[in-house]
Amino acid sequence: MVTGKARCVTCGKEKATTKCGGCSQDFCFNHLTDHRQELGKQFDEIEVTHDLFRQILTDKNDISQNQILIQQINEWECNSIKKVQQSAENARQIVFKHTTKHINKIEMKLNKMTEQLRESRQENDFFEADLKLWKEELERLTKELHNPLQITFEQISLPLVSNIYVDIPSISLHSNNIAIDARWIQNGITVAGGNGRGNGLNQLTSPVGLYVDDDQTIYASDYEHHRIMEWKYGAISGQIVAGGNGVGNRNDQLNGPTDLIIDKKE
Ligand SMILES: [Zn+2]
Ligand SMILES: [Zn+2]
Repeated sequence: MVTGKARCVTCGKEKATTKCGGCSQDFCFNHLTDHRQELGKQFDEIEVTHDLFRQILTDKNDISQNQILIQQINEWECNSIKKVQQSAENARQIVFKHTTKHINKIEMKLNKMTEQLRESRQENDFFEADLKLWKEELERLTKELHNPLQITFEQISLPLVSNIYVDIPSISLHSNNIAIDARWIQNGITVAGGNGRGNGLNQLTSPVGLYVDDDQTIYASDYEHHRIMEWKYGAISGQIVAGGNGVGNRNDQLNGPTDLIIDKKE
C-alpha cells in the first residue's frame, strides 16, 4: 500500500490516501475501511456459496444416479446367483433321483430273493443248485450296487449368466493430459477399426481401453474378444499383442480386458 495525498474515489476529497493493492484505487482512511468491509462481505458471500456447493456435492454422492447404477449391478448380481443356484439345484435333483431309482431297482430284486429264501427255509426245500443260484444272485446284486453310476459331470460352454461391465467413456478418464487450449479438428477420421464388430484383425468390438503411444501407435483393449490390439499409425489393420485366445486364465488368455497400461521402458 502506498500512502500520499490523492483524491479518494469514494468521497472525492483530496486527502491523505492509501492505494488499495488490489484495485489500485485511492481511498482516504475512513473509506479504506469501508472498502475493506465491502471486500469482506463479498468474501463471505463466496464462502456461503462454496459451502452450499459442498453440501450439494455431498448429497449428490449419497443419493445420485450412481444409486440407480449400483441397484442395477446389485440386481444383476442377485439374478445371476439365483440362476447359478437354480442350475446347481436342478443338477442335484437329477443325481438324487437317478441314485434313488438305481437303489430301488436293486432292492426289488433283493425282495424277490428274500421271498424265495423265506419259503425255502420254511419248507426246508432246497439243494445245491438253489444255493449256487442264490450265491450268484447276491454276487450280481453286490456288483450292481458298487458299480459306478453312469453319471458324469459336464460343463457346457453356453454361459449361464452374461457378464457385465461398466462403460466409462475413455475420454473422461484420460483427458487430464490434454492441454486446456488444445485445438480440435471438427471432422474425425478413422484411425483404428471401422470395419464393424468382429474378431478380424481390422475390426474392434468394444475397445473400452485406449492408449496412444508417442509414435501415435494405438493400443486398444478389445473387451469382447479378450485381446489387446495394436494399430500402427496409418495402418489399415491391427495386430494382436496380448490375448486373442478366448476367455481364460492361461498365460496367453485374457478375460474381458477393460483397460491397459503401456510400460514405455520396454
Ligand atoms: Zn474518502
Ligand atoms: Zn480495492
